[in-house]
Amino acid sequence: MDEMDFENRIVAPEFTTQDAEIDGSLRPRTLSEYIGQEKVKDNLRIYIQAARARGESLDHVLFYGPPGLGKTTLAGIVAHEMGVNLRVTSGPAIERSGDLVAILTTLSEGDVLFIDEIHRLSRAVEEALYPAMEDFSVDMILGKGPATRSYHIDLPHFTLIGATTRSGQLTAPLRDRFGVLMRLELYTPEELAQIVRRSAEILNIPIDRNGALEIASRSRGTPRIANRLLKRVRDIAQIEHDGAIDEDIARAALQRFEIDELGLDDFDRRMLSTIIQTYGGGPVGLDTLAAALGEESVTIEDVYEPYLMQIGFLTRTNRGRCVTHAAYAHLGLPVPEANPQYTLPNS
Ligand code: ADP
Repeated sequence: MDEMDFENRIVAPEFTTQDAEIDGSLRPRTLSEYIGQEKVKDNLRIYIQAARARGESLDHVLFYGPPGLGKTTLAGIVAHEMGVNLRVTSGPAIERSGDLVAILTTLSEGDVLFIDEIHRLSRAVEEALYPAMEDFSVDMILGKGPATRSYHIDLPHFTLIGATTRSGQLTAPLRDRFGVLMRLELYTPEELAQIVRRSAEILNIPIDRNGALEIASRSRGTPRIANRLLKRVRDIAQIEHDGAIDEDIARAALQRFEIDELGLDDFDRRMLSTIIQTYGGGPVGLDTLAAALGEESVTIEDVYEPYLMQIGFLTRTNRGRCVTHAAYAHLGLPVPEANPQYTLPNS
């Protein structure tokens, strides 16, 4: 089976090159511009105020949740609100502990270091990070044999902001060194509609309320997808209409991209129908399902499942994944008669 190509999958929540152009201009810069995630914002506001009042750097923060929900954006906001610089890197980009030391020693007092995909740090780098987080210092061993020297380097008091898809992917020692753990949730269609309208205003795209809601409700709870769909719908509105987006234009455009009214694409439908047709609706183990679909288990778990669970199409049980009656109905398949295997507590 084909491997999913994220560059081509229009509803992929991961960052792709086509997002680069818009990401910068659309990123909210302050907490008040940032739509949704109320709990996270409330807490951050308090921590930022308290740290500023004490004249200290903010505690290390871990954001976790599916890709495209605004973790990088929040790191930028924290730096902005703290009045410090932001340095962005990622777990796989820091290959050796020397690379980490090079980054850390160039930070200024209070700066925010954002490490995306922090669960992918190598063990050696992760271990070098512990004393940096805890005591703001690193020990480096240079040279070999009798010429070996150990150096103790003091670092500025920086704030580490880590991002990962699931907090459980982190080792316990790393997780424990974050003072604040915050989980980002998928957005509601109403919140996403606000984001679409805000982005449309910045990009000078005329769009009405229902047009925005139409795009929002097909964006899988994910701002990155909402912004991407807005851009693609704009292209069609420009070429085939007068450039303005309303509900009908949005719907027709999204249908053309084969994104259905719930935001599901071909892979989602294939996944649901595989569980139904090959595994009788479930339960089926994650790895078995991944093998059947030719996709990696972690991708299924972090990218596809959160949204399918949010809309009530999929459940995770301790025996495996199960499809709900709502998913059968959505795919136009006959809903099975009361079969205890598929029946959920309240379906
Ligand atoms: P992540 O780091 O979680 O993958 P990003 O911070 O890169 O996500 O956000 C992806 C895109 O979505 C960015 O273009 C950003 O501007 C937009 N975005 C994310 N969250 C919000 C929000 N709450 N309000 C407005 N735009 C948002």
